[in-house]
Amino acid sequence: MNTQIQVQSQSKAPRDGLPDLIMAWARDAETGEPRYIMELGAERRGGKSACVCPSCLAPVTAVNAARAEYIRRPHFRHPPGTEKQSCSIVAARFALLKEVQADGWLQLPQRRRKVTAIGLSGHTYETWVSVAPQKVRIADVDFQDHTRAVLSLDDGRRIQVQLTGSATVSSTDEILACLTLHIDDPQASFFSPEELRKRLTLVPEWLCWQSHWEDRALEAQARGLLKGQMDDAIDAPPPDLDLSAVPAELHRETVLHFLAKQILGDAGKIRAPAIHHEVSKRVGPSVNITRTWYKPETTYTLTNVKLECRFGHVVPDIVCEASDEDGNVSPRLFIEITVTNPIDEERKTRLSQEGSPTLELDLSRTGGRLTKAEFHDMLVREVSFKNWIWHPEGWAALKELQRQVDEEVQRTLVKAETARKLRAEALAMDAGEIGQQYLAAMTSYLEQQYLLDAGEPGALRETVEAARVETMRLADLLGFHGYFGKTDLTKAQAVRVLSRLLSLKHDRGIGFKYATGFEVLNSIWQLKDRNRQDIPMYMAAARYWKIRLNEKQVESVRTWRHTMVTSLKAGETTYLRSSGNDRLLTLLFPDLAEILATTTGMALLSRFAPNATRSVNRENFYTGAALERWLQDHPDLALAWAHLRR
Ligand SMILES: [Zn+2]
Repeated sequence: MNTQIQVQSQSKAPRDGLPDLIMAWARDAETGEPRYIMELGAERRGGKSACVCPSCLAPVTAVNAARAEYIRRPHFRHPPGTEKQSCSIVAARFALLKEVQADGWLQLPQRRRKVTAIGLSGHTYETWVSVAPQKVRIADVDFQDHTRAVLSLDDGRRIQVQLTGSATVSSTDEILACLTLHIDDPQASFFSPEELRKRLTLVPEWLCWQSHWEDRALEAQARGLLKGQMDDAIDAPPPDLDLSAVPAELHRETVLHFLAKQILGDAGKIRAPAIHHEVSKRVGPSVNITRTWYKPETTYTLTNVKLECRFGHVVPDIVCEASDEDGNVSPRLFIEITVTNPIDEERKTRLSQEGSPTLELDLSRTGGRLTKAEFHDMLVREVSFKNWIWHPEGWAALKELQRQVDEEVQRTLVKAETARKLRAEALAMDAGEIGQQYLAAMTSYLEQQYLLDAGEPGALRETVEAARVETMRLADLLGFHGYFGKTDLTKAQAVRVLSRLLSLKHDRGIGFKYATGFEVLNSIWQLKDRNRQDIPMYMAAARYWKIRLNEKQVESVRTWRHTMVTSLKAGETTYLRSSGNDRLLTLLFPDLAEILATTTGMALLSRFAPNATRSVNRENFYTGAALERWLQDHPDLALAWAHLRR
């Protein structure tokens, strides 16, 4: 059957074209089947069509039916005044089903179902499931009324088809599936059967599911997928947790606590961060007193993990027994899980008052998104999200550090004050006066030390120590007056030098096992070469203080003197001493001033080796290259004579 279809105005919008549309399809009044105008024989031409409009059910006239030639193409016409523009489209939809039936096959579109849910965190979850497109065989089409038909499939399933653009689904128990047939194209009103069939394949959107046999299964599948996602994201309550009594804003937190208890109970351990304390106080512009304490990371073994038990004024999120890697047992370890709001100071105080170590897992930095696996890891293994809110050992250590630092600060301040007072005291005194006290204290110290070393009965170590302390105190006082500076004798070296001079002055061993001044002088003469510089000074001092000598000893001293003079004349440096200590020695022994001046290396050289001082200028000082050469030859004197370079 061929039909010429004249499309009159393609450019017009569909609505504008409606008055010109012709109706190619109607419904057989007797059988209810769709009828195409070209199918009617001459006997049903005009008013004898026995057809009604499938939409408004008005009887229609078959204009030009079964005519071979016509000016206006054959069509169904409503009775005057009853025609409705949309009837033509409804008729086409109606006809389409007949063609589907004639073809025997129907391409069912894909059925997709979307399920969404909102998690405890407020995040929206969404999942899609679908049934693939499917070609089914039509066994029967039952036109129930002008907007509804029921297709029976080969396999016994049935589909209700709504012949309107927007269907109200009225599925019964037997018919669970419903399709709408969307044909809104006005041109479809005069499509031939072939054209309709072709369009059905080309434009599958004409068929749209309203409900599907498998909707319940799809929905269940989608809900299952969604629940999996939400469970994994810890965003849905576990089945064994009842949240009905919990305010909505606490749901997620409650779920996390519940889960944490499960995880810790199953894992039986938790890694805890190190504790590091540092207490520092400043006591002066450049003095800081700092003490530190460190307890390394440890893994606790947990038993008896419980959720939210009350202890006094607190209900920690989790309570358990814990023992660390060294086997130290805490009968109670509190674990707090912070989801959004940090633990406030008041709660921290209450937790600390309870006295148990309290560990916080702070999830607020995770941004709220967390999978179950991540949560497990953060809880059991990681330490970066954990803080100690309270740890008895750490707290005690901190207190001890503070005590130590305070004590050290006090000590430092007292020391500084003592030094300040001592300085003021020292500067208020005459240096010579201190010097004499120092010398007396030194004498006492040397004598006490000697007695102790000799094992004298009644000699006490305490007495020696007290004398030593007094000596050092007076040396410190001299220090404020500029003695014992960097280039001078040290306080320790002074003991040896003063022991010798005091022995010579008093003509008896002071700090020596020898009885007489000569014996001490003899011991000085035995010194090794590198220590002999000061011998001329000691010899001169012994002579000045007139130590007692017998004839033999006089002879010895003469020989020694001869040896020295020979060495000096030979230009050796063995007996050349610097004058660096002379300021202190003059203070302590004012009567030696002249002796000290005449026994410096310079004085001895000019007296005994004038040839070696050819380059000495008028004031008896080397200058220029001669000075440099001399200093190079006498490195042990170079430091003390360095001022000559100026
Ligand atoms: Zn009508």
